[in-house]
Amino acid sequence: MSFLQFEEFNAYQPLVAQMLINSFQKNRLAHAYIFEGPRGTKKLDAAFLFAKRMLCLAPGPGQNPCCVCRNCRKIEAGTHPNVFRIAAEGENIKVEQIRAMIAELSKTSVENGPRIYIVEEADRMRAEAANALLKTLEEPGNDVYAVMLTDKYNSLLKTIVSRAQVMHFQPIDKALIKADLLKQGIEPCIASVIPEYTNNHEDAIRIAQSPEMAALFMAIPELYGMAGNPEASMVLRFREIRDSVFVDWEMTDYFLTLLILYQKDLLHCKLARTAEIVWSPDIEKMTKLASLVSQKWIEDALEKMLALKTRLKFNIIDSLAFDNLFIHLERGFNHAI
Ligand SMILES: [Zn+2]
Repeated sequence: MSFLQFEEFNAYQPLVAQMLINSFQKNRLAHAYIFEGPRGTKKLDAAFLFAKRMLCLAPGPGQNPCCVCRNCRKIEAGTHPNVFRIAAEGENIKVEQIRAMIAELSKTSVENGPRIYIVEEADRMRAEAANALLKTLEEPGNDVYAVMLTDKYNSLLKTIVSRAQVMHFQPIDKALIKADLLKQGIEPCIASVIPEYTNNHEDAIRIAQSPEMAALFMAIPELYGMAGNPEASMVLRFREIRDSVFVDWEMTDYFLTLLILYQKDLLHCKLARTAEIVWSPDIEKMTKLASLVSQKWIEDALEKMLALKTRLKFNIIDSLAFDNLFIHLERGFNHAI
C-alpha cells in the first residue's frame, strides 16, 4: 500500500477527499465512517490517510499529514499503538477480534492522541461481531474513531450504517490508471488496454506486472497477425497457448476480454473511428484486416465473443467453444467474407 497525501487522493476520489478536508478544516469529524465502493478504489489508502492526519503532530497545508513526525512514521511502519486494523481471519471477522479490540480501547493508550480503528471488509462481520462493534459505535470513547471499509455496502447491517457517515468511493478514472501504469514503466500499449479490462487500481497494477498475463496480452496481436495469412494458422497457434488461457477463471476472462477489445478495435477501424481504438500501435495492421471482411462479419464474430463472456460470468468455461471461435475467425479472414 502506498501512503497518499490529500493532493493525490483528491485525484482518485475528489468528492470524498473534499468532504474529508472540509471536516478537518471545520473540525467536524464523525466518530464512525463507512468507506463504501468497488474494490481497488483506494479505500484502505484513504483510511490510513485519515489516521495519519488525525495523529500527525504537525499537519501541513491542505490538511496533509507531515509524514516525518514520530506518529506519521509509526503509522507508516504499521506500529502505532493507536491505530488498529481488523481484517477477516478466514471467512469472517470473528467476534473475538472485535472484543479484543474493544478491550484494547478500554485501556489507557501508551500514546497520546485519538485512536482509530480500521475494519477492512466490514461486511464480513456476522451478527455477533457486528453487535459487539455496535456497542462501541453507540458509545464511542472521547477520542475514538472508526473507519469501516466495504465493497458490499448492501450487506452491512443497517444498524451499523445508521451510526456512521457513509463516503461513496467511485470507480477510478481510466486515464488515471493508465497514467499510474505508465509511471510504473509499463509499456504504453499495455497501459492503454488494461484500464479497459479493470478499473480496480490494485488489480490493474498486478496484472500489468504479471509475466503470465503479459504473455497472454502479447498473444492477441500475434493471433490476429496470423489472420488472413494462409501460411499461418490462428487455430493451431491458439491450441499451443490454450493451456495458459485455461489455467484459471481470471486468465480465461482476461484473454477473452482482450480478444473482445481487439475485435471491437477492428470494428472501429472499419467504421473509421480511429480515435476510439485502444490497441493503437496496431492500427495499420487492423486497417488491413478490417478491409478483408465485412462490418457485419466483424459484428457477428464480436457477438460470439460476447456470448462466451456471458457464459463465463456464470462460470461456464467452454474451451471447445473457444476452439470453434478461432476456427470461425480463421475461416472468415482467410476467405475474405
Ligand atoms: Zn506527522
